Amino acid sequence: MKLYEFQAKEVFAGEGIPVPRGQMASTPAEAEAIARELGRCVVKAQVHVGGRGKAGGVKVVNTREEARVAAEGMLGKPLKGLIVHHVLVEEALQIASEYYLSVIIDRTSKRPVMMASAMGGVDIEEVAATTPERIARLVIDPAYGPLDFELRKLSADAGFDPRASRGVVDIARRLYRVFVRTDASLAEINPLVVTDRGAVIAADAKFDVDDNALYRQQALARFREESEEDEIEAQAHRRGVNYVRLPGGDIGIIGNGAGLVMSTLDLVTRHGGKPANFLDVGGGASAESVREALSIVLMDPNVKGVLFNIFGGITRGDLVAQGILDAVSTMDIKVPMVVRMAGTRAKEGLALLEGSPLTPAAGPAEAAERVIELAHKR
Ligand code: GDP
Ligand code: MN
Repeated sequence: MKLYEFQAKEVFAGEGIPVPRGQMASTPAEAEAIARELGRCVVKAQVHVGGRGKAGGVKVVNTREEARVAAEGMLGKPLKGLIVHHVLVEEALQIASEYYLSVIIDRTSKRPVMMASAMGGVDIEEVAATTPERIARLVIDPAYGPLDFELRKLSADAGFDPRASRGVVDIARRLYRVFVRTDASLAEINPLVVTDRGAVIAADAKFDVDDNALYRQQALARFREESEEDEIEAQAHRRGVNYVRLPGGDIGIIGNGAGLVMSTLDLVTRHGGKPANFLDVGGGASAESVREALSIVLMDPNVKGVLFNIFGGITRGDLVAQGILDAVSTMDIKVPMVVRMAGTRAKEGLALLEGSPLTPAAGPAEAAERVIELAHKR
């Protein structure tokens, strides 16, 4: 889950990281009211994407009228393809230097890595591409966390002004702490600003939290913006169905087991079809869970056919078949459905489907071919 900058700053401030004074606004009038308190300020579009500065999503304004006009120019309009629903209005900083500071999980070292550079700001990607040696790295031992001398060394390696080092090290320590505490996968401050008076402040904040940890991050789960999610995925999420929509597809896929479902997507693709979704019904596959799965898959108006791929292990084929029949009998389904079944009691299961509107298939390849053919015939 990505957090908006204003949400990330709230989390950072809670950990004692200095952030500019400011507030989120959803209307130009709100932006104007906030600007009246602040005086000279920045109006920043809140979207889940970086590079807003270069795209016109960060405006420095001198009066509250200018703040309103800037907010009007952003709210309800797209920025880098995303509609802006909120702006952040904060005090403008007197910037002396723009630094870069972040923590990520590094796959190579399998550890959290802190990165720092004195070349922060809107061109950090270019710095990373052309002069990567200007970005200092600290691989962190999670058993100890970053030690103070390591952070001081990182600050020196990054080329930070020694006078700013104390402030930067303090922020770095807190950034790591909040990263661990919130199960983040990324926590980035760019720019970390040194003001003309020598104060160190997080002027921007980027923050991603591992979705799999949200169950134990109740305080962050409230930031989840369903409006940003696909409508059907949001429904599925609420009903506890393991579903991912695949835009542009027209073959609905339902299977038991994530690996089986993924290989089914590949198989449909190999046979020239376009899968519309991933859906794992999990073990058991009761009539109830099959009905839930089908209703989610069929919410997508592009779906022209549905393929069930069931592998019976502990799950019995005949029970799944009965579940499918029960579910289908209570629903008004207009698209062809093909069922492939293997494993425990598969034969019995397929026998049950005879005479039903479902087409049984002996193997996975045959099932993929059949569903594509039936879906496109109509
Ligand atoms: P991003 O482009 O989406 O990463 O947005 P940032 O918050 O990083 O802002 C982009 C740039 O705006 C910064 O790198 C600054 O150079 C510039 N800027 C100018 N004045 C200010 C200010 O008072 N606050 C902030 N945050 N940025 C400012
Ligand atoms: Mn930035």
